[in-house]
Amino acid sequence: MPFLIDAHLDLAYNMLVFNRDYRRSVAQTRALEKNTPVPERNGEALVGWEEMQRGQVGLVVGTLYISPHTSAKEWDTQQYRDRNTARKLHLEQVAAYEQLCDQSPEMFTMVRTRQELGGVLQDWQTPADFPHRTHPVGIILSMEGAEGLPHLQDLTEWRERGLRLLGPVWGGGRYCGAAWGKDLTIGFDREGYELLTLMAEVGIALDVSHMNHVSMRQAIDFYPGEVVYASHLACESVYGASWQRLITDDSIAALVERDGVVGLVPANYFLRSDFGRNDPRDKVSLTSLADHVDHVCQQAGSAAHVALGTDFDGGFGLSVVPKELNSIADLQLLADVLKNRGYNEDDIAQIFHGNWQRLLLKIFAD
Ligand SMILES: [Zn+2]
Repeated sequence: MPFLIDAHLDLAYNMLVFNRDYRRSVAQTRALEKNTPVPERNGEALVGWEEMQRGQVGLVVGTLYISPHTSAKEWDTQQYRDRNTARKLHLEQVAAYEQLCDQSPEMFTMVRTRQELGGVLQDWQTPADFPHRTHPVGIILSMEGAEGLPHLQDLTEWRERGLRLLGPVWGGGRYCGAAWGKDLTIGFDREGYELLTLMAEVGIALDVSHMNHVSMRQAIDFYPGEVVYASHLACESVYGASWQRLITDDSIAALVERDGVVGLVPANYFLRSDFGRNDPRDKVSLTSLADHVDHVCQQAGSAAHVALGTDFDGGFGLSVVPKELNSIADLQLLADVLKNRGYNEDDIAQIFHGNWQRLLLKIFAD
């Protein structure tokens, strides 16, 4: 079973808003949340430490995700109205990751340096064999949406804190146009370009997820840093309808040109436009996910530019993932689906971890 890197999980948000404890198994979390409002608000859990071990998910990007105060979700304790609150919440999320790793170092470990990255990659060269042999799961920080950043100069401090990945927007309203924005023709403004320039200067890689099509293309072309990628989205042309949250073929080509990677979300409503969020999940299978994988590979002419950024537990759960998946552990089943399509072991290893690993080694070059 190949080692798997997942480039997008909102672990801290879930720990703080829903009290999820990722040291628990998925079954434990589901049992605890039975008859609570959590499954309705965030779906039935897909992620737990045991399932990560079983699925060889040894390295994940853990987001600092906070939401702008626009929704009526009174239970959402990670919403910000102003930039000081945003800063406070971001720091709370860093502390949540640190606490998890400090309390259970045999289960989770922070990856903020080249050496720490090397340690996790080394560990997972030997597959986990739960419960006999397990390894700590590495967590790399990424800020999902920097709209609440008090000052651009704060990036220097964030870099010192170990942040090396950042996606400028989530909901939009600052820097550039977002996928959920009202005006989809909006591109980068002056502050947005300044942000990209500063990110490159201090050594923070660029995640273009959540940008609208215009902004995404501008960001890929302009960003002066070395590593640019999309952590969690899907291909618009495979999806079968126009949706700004997805990546166009044009931007896939531009990312490939820059040696970037497209991270796919295995959620049915990202994979197929004919899936409604209340449809039965068995309407969609892993072959749909493989369609997206294959599309990026065909566009790129190789398997070097596609990977996974599941976003599991990020506002959705069991009811909207392909029918073969009961938890994150079952992502390993994608390997067989790809094998049946003619992908060899090397291709699958690239897609499961090699491509993210290539980018992470550049990001953590020093
Ligand atoms: Zn997201």
